[in-house]
Amino acid sequence: MTGTSAPHILEGLGASPGVAVGRAVCLSIHHLEVYRIPIQPDDVEAEVVRLKDATQQTRKELNATRQRAHEQLGDGLAGIFEAQALLLEDASFLDRVERGIRDEKINAEWAVNKVSEEFLHRFESLESEHLRERGDDLRDVTRHLLRVLQGIAHHEISELGSNVIIVAHDLTPSEAVRLGRQQVIAFAIETGGPTSHTSIIARDLNIPLVTGLDGVTGLVTDDDPVVVDGTEGRVILHPSQAQLSDYRDRRKRQTEEERKLVETGPLPCVSRDGVAIELMANIDLPEELEDASRYGAAGLGLYRSEFLYIERAPELPSEDEHFATYRTLLDTMSPHPVLIRTFDLGGRKLAREVMATDEENPVLGLRGIRLTLARPHIFKIQLRALFRAGVGRNLWIMLPMVSARDEIRAFRAFADQVMEEMEEEGLEFSREFKLGIMIEVPSAAMIADVLAQEVDFFSIGTNDLIQYSLAVDRNNEHVSYLYRPLHPAILRMIRFVLDCARDNGVEVSMCGEMAGDQRYTALLLGMGLRRLSVSPRSIPDIKKQIRSSDIRELEEATERCLTMGSSAEVERCLDSYLARQAPSMKGKAG
Ligand code: PEP
Ligand code: MG
Repeated sequence: MTGTSAPHILEGLGASPGVAVGRAVCLSIHHLEVYRIPIQPDDVEAEVVRLKDATQQTRKELNATRQRAHEQLGDGLAGIFEAQALLLEDASFLDRVERGIRDEKINAEWAVNKVSEEFLHRFESLESEHLRERGDDLRDVTRHLLRVLQGIAHHEISELGSNVIIVAHDLTPSEAVRLGRQQVIAFAIETGGPTSHTSIIARDLNIPLVTGLDGVTGLVTDDDPVVVDGTEGRVILHPSQAQLSDYRDRRKRQTEEERKLVETGPLPCVSRDGVAIELMANIDLPEELEDASRYGAAGLGLYRSEFLYIERAPELPSEDEHFATYRTLLDTMSPHPVLIRTFDLGGRKLAREVMATDEENPVLGLRGIRLTLARPHIFKIQLRALFRAGVGRNLWIMLPMVSARDEIRAFRAFADQVMEEMEEEGLEFSREFKLGIMIEVPSAAMIADVLAQEVDFFSIGTNDLIQYSLAVDRNNEHVSYLYRPLHPAILRMIRFVLDCARDNGVEVSMCGEMAGDQRYTALLLGMGLRRLSVSPRSIPDIKKQIRSSDIRELEEATERCLTMGSSAEVERCLDSYLARQAPSMKGKAG
């Protein structure tokens, strides 16, 4: 598998642990460079023929994609490719490109790009949402056509083959889901932080991922041998024989360790001094249910229902599809609680595709509860399914991105209205669910005492709470060094939320990635957290931390940590405590 080139080691951010040895497939190229190349009058005809051939080839590829999408993923996705193929039949577009080549005596790539930009400009200035969406199709088709003109291979997800390591500039959560379900064994990408949804998906699917690999797409070509070490955040291009055999050995050890972890599933989740801790699972995809059960999860502390939409996009899931999924979750986890979060589309999670929103700054825009309340006809479908699925089950409904009390009240009013309609229709449904909110917006954390009057439970979402409190984009690898769970501001907010929950008899858990990071377990237990929800594969490690903790001692150590003025000081304080503990407690709070 080694090539003739020397090994090249790239350091990035380890976003999903594990190692993989495979061959590269470059999925996306950040900049499709298009140059303006003047051509001789004698070459014009040949250039027009090159354009026509490329158009035909692109059409063929789009039709093949449409056919495969139809067979594997249903009509919804197939429709996208059909719409794109139709754009290539549009004479007004192609005639103008051809005229550009003839009149200006320029290369086909330049003419395609220029005409496409003119069209896009026109689409964007239009009022109609539908036409603006056509702009996205045009952008995709243009890129596809340019790739064909430049002789860059276009990869079909279904044609990737085996042992594939995806190398890309960027990867959306939905692409990660789709690729992760094929034979892809690792991801090496240029952008993204460890708590981005793409990283979360990679961890869910147990696929090693390294992000923050600046310029990696320019360094690899298809089929290059690659090693991805998601534990250390390292990628080796053209590994030597010695490196290859070292990583193959590591891979074997990893598989063996994973097998052993399953044996910890039945162990009780109780600290050394006898405090019971509820360790629940976060899941995004129904296939993770099996791991949640194998590792002994005490219920689901977060089901991200938006992935139902992401999988069906651009179609919406039907009420029956929602219902069937929720029933499976509730029945598999019974009698434990199942916290189903109403859809949190927005940010990078398909808001534009599913909900037809197009925002300048979507992370601060119409997402979470805001989007659901703004699209009642879509939200109603999910709520009806939830109320039906909850009959005789331990259902907890959780609202994402709540920033003010009014949103909870608006939800209750809407839910009452939906239930009234269901009653009139004579449907069987339950009003017995618990209602809770994510605490992931700083304003919600700061009025946790007020919000505690309105709900049955809180779940602390540190991924967004850190992003919004510290003004650090969780998807941006350039600022990930500032993404500090141990920042005193974050610890004070968590402490305040825990105190408000306790004083008001509201249940509280944490489902952000901080809960699943064993470096923070001691501190969280010491702060009083008794229910954690983590990705299924983190359960064994976190349980091990819990079982080796003395919570009374931790409470004292935590008080000291909470008086520190910076994350570095908190880290040192925690480390010095952990160093004095049993060797089984994991050191280095980092
Ligand atoms: C969070 O913000 O901590 C959270 C769990 O939600 P998500 O990662 O889906 O934004
Ligand atoms: Mg969140």
